[in-house]
Amino acid sequence: MPSGNSSLLRETVVTGNIELSPDVYLISFQRNYDFIPGQVIKIGLDNDQPPRIYSICSGNTDPDISVLFNVKKDGVLTPRLASLIPGDKLLVSEPYGSFLGSNEPAWWIAAGTGIAPFYSMFRSGMKKGKSLIHGVSYLNQFYFEDELEEAFEENYTRCCSRESSCNTFPGRVTDYLDQLKHFPDVKYFLCGKALMVVEVRDLLISKGVPFANIEAEIYF
Ligand SMILES: Cc1cc2nc3c(=O)[nH]c(=O)nc-3n(C[C@H](O)[C@H](O)[C@H](O)COP(=O)(O)OP(=O)(O)OC[C@H]3O[C@@H](n4cnc5c(N)ncnc54)[C@H](O)[C@@H]3O)c2cc1C
Repeated sequence: MPSGNSSLLRETVVTGNIELSPDVYLISFQRNYDFIPGQVIKIGLDNDQPPRIYSICSGNTDPDISVLFNVKKDGVLTPRLASLIPGDKLLVSEPYGSFLGSNEPAWWIAAGTGIAPFYSMFRSGMKKGKSLIHGVSYLNQFYFEDELEEAFEENYTRCCSRESSCNTFPGRVTDYLDQLKHFPDVKYFLCGKALMVVEVRDLLISKGVPFANIEAEIYF
């Protein structure tokens, strides 16, 4: 299993950087390692600042590695990451982490850029037996929506809290889960910011999902 040295950063070359929605970018760079979908990498631009952690957002047979990130306007790294163009250099660690995709049936529950590890798992062929639930604030934040809709069909639920449309649930992921009656005996993978992950975890437990069936990746 690739679980590499997360302290050693190696230089790599940016191959693409696109803004998918306001202040959310998908940056791609040359790939030096194998990885298991769900793993993270550390990214930095120089040795002066500590690197930050990002979920890999590309498939394990894609030629490059991609990462989906929010720009924190007052953040150290992300405003600089957003300005990179193909040919620029980046420092990247080996992949590591324990939030690992598998071929077992599961529910994948994401908020915002927390869709990244699930998109990586999907692109790596782990779609079978999965239900994907994605919560965002605005409709333009359903990253990879067309591809996911075509692949998952009725097993793809979009929850949008601040805008409405005919194919989205009006509200947050927790509102959506709260009105469900049946929770199958599968693994529940949660990914997003701390508050969302904790709220979803507590809700699932209150609905009878065993704690041992819940795996979480928290972006903090
Ligand atoms: C396992 C894991 C996976 C992650 N994956 C992703 C991912 O796929 N995509 C993604 O977008 N993010 C992800 N993150 C978050 C990411 O690592 C960074 O934290 C994020 O991108 C911000 O980095 P930054 O350097 O731009 O901001 P930072 O400089 O770290 O600042 C972040 C925020 O904290 C505030 N802040 C900083 N220092 C202080 C302080 N001392 N007191 C109060 N406030 C402060 C800043 O003002 C800013 O708003 C992940 C985190 C973890 C732990």
